[in-house]
Amino acid sequence: MSFPAAPFALLLALLLAAPPARAETPAPAAAPAADAAPRPWTPREKTIRKGAPEARVAVPDFTALPAAPPLPPGLAGSVRRVELPPGEKLVALTFDLCETSNEVAGYDGEIVDTLRRRGVPATFFVGGHWALTHPDRFRELAADPRFEIANHTWTHANLRTVDDERLAREILAPEAAFRAEGWTKPSRFLRFPFGACDPRSMSAVNAAGMAAIQWDVSTGDPSPFTSAAAIVGETLAGVRPGSIVLAHANGRGFHTGEALPRLLDGLEKKGYRFVTVGDLLAKGRPVISPTCFDAKPGDTDKYDHWTGPGGHRPSKTALPTPAKPFGAPTPGAPAPSPLRGANP
Ligand SMILES: [Zn+2]
Repeated sequence: MSFPAAPFALLLALLLAAPPARAETPAPAAAPAADAAPRPWTPREKTIRKGAPEARVAVPDFTALPAAPPLPPGLAGSVRRVELPPGEKLVALTFDLCETSNEVAGYDGEIVDTLRRRGVPATFFVGGHWALTHPDRFRELAADPRFEIANHTWTHANLRTVDDERLAREILAPEAAFRAEGWTKPSRFLRFPFGACDPRSMSAVNAAGMAAIQWDVSTGDPSPFTSAAAIVGETLAGVRPGSIVLAHANGRGFHTGEALPRLLDGLEKKGYRFVTVGDLLAKGRPVISPTCFDAKPGDTDKYDHWTGPGGHRPSKTALPTPAKPFGAPTPGAPAPSPLRGANP
């Protein structure tokens, strides 16, 4: 199984198959001001409000987005972590801002404040719907030079199971939403909701110029039963140089805010420095898996019932392994990763 010969043609076909977007596209707004002081948060903002009237937002017009730069060579597929030259102890903390179409998810200001106070860079995978229901918070995050903004789909669909029309919307509507909030940089990265992909959805994401950034260490924070102590303990045990850590800042990280200061202390004590995903990739070679998963291959198939309207039967075919590694070899770097294609 290989990627389609003309991925851009596939994307174009997906776009052409999409119906006209609804008309109420928000007017382009001014770029986020870098010096705008973030507003203090309230605990109420962390609450997830199912069925809130504010959840009704129009799909922004994504049919006329400027062309995004193509995916750099060697980044096709599911990125789990990055292999670094010996001695480099870097870790990328990532926070998902997931939101489905019938809810207003939360904003976890405790996490963001801790990162800011300690000068810790991080990558936020932002749902397009979340960006439109939290315009001020989105602008604050985008304006903060410590933080990297990436795409977490429009409404957190399982991209294995949606039809072509919805696949295009899930991938591209966030880009239009970010632009509507003044953030005009095309996303370099997308994270698959549920950690679930198949060759068709991966081809579409990569054809849109985005690398699929998954993780090798999950904090387990979307479970209310995962205590702060468990988040700290499990994450410290799992992180190794080049790790990508998954956490949530949308209110589904139930004890993440409480755990974060201790987690940062523990990682610093072990000699780690924090970087964004983009900076991590620039320092080494991505470890790319032939499939998407959480802890082990196949463990995200359980979400395949999550079809929503316009179901699509997911392919069980493995993703192709890219032919060449990302970036030029770094002097002193280890040989191409033996982990490539293995379960990290
Ligand atoms: Zn998510």
